[in-house]
Amino acid sequence: VFITFEGNDGAGKTTVCKAIYKKLLEQGYDVIYTREPGGSQIAEKIRDILLNTHNQSMDPLTEALLYAASRRQHLVEKILPALEKKQIVLCDRFIDSSLAYQGYARKIGMSSIWSINQFAIDGHMPDRTIFLSVSIETGQKRMDIRGEKNRLDLEANDFHQAVRKGYEILCEQQKDRIVVIDAEPELDTVIHQTMASVLEVVHA
Ligand code: C5P
Ligand code: MG
Repeated sequence: VFITFEGNDGAGKTTVCKAIYKKLLEQGYDVIYTREPGGSQIAEKIRDILLNTHNQSMDPLTEALLYAASRRQHLVEKILPALEKKQIVLCDRFIDSSLAYQGYARKIGMSSIWSINQFAIDGHMPDRTIFLSVSIETGQKRMDIRGEKNRLDLEANDFHQAVRKGYEILCEQQKDRIVVIDAEPELDTVIHQTMASVLEVVHA
């Protein structure tokens, strides 16, 4: 079973995803937690280019292609072998991040991003995607508390709003795959609701 976690910066993807991983392990499930670039050395190198060139000028299409390339390498090296072994794969961000960030917010267009990513993932879509929904204000607050200097701090609030709008479009279009979880409440509540959705698909 392949489950991905999506949401704006500061939504709590990593925290919730790791908590679900721990709970599933405790309950005896064979599960892995991963995130792009997933420890793949090649994918790691690609990500390094993506995250450390913000003050130079990367062409938006180059950025989109690099994300797709990194995703492919991570998929082949890590996700597919785990699925082959019947492990549950929990992945912190996947194709929807590119659709929302590069496709919608960077205005490349969701259909172009969809095309290059379908080429990259070759049909291996998640069985379920958990969208952790928070306001831009809450996300920013959580980033501040974490002291995590988000690459996109440099960008206007408008960018984050656009990312959110992109995710909203996806949630509307792909209701069967994407489950929206209100990530504003306290962590235990969010984890509880996410766990219910995860178990539903694991037992399906
Ligand atoms: O939240 P996470 O640590 O996974 O993301 C790292 C950075 O990369 C964040 O600033 C996020 O906004 C950005 N990102 C992006 N496009 C993606 C995925 C992440 O701009 N497709
Ligand atoms: Mg994170």
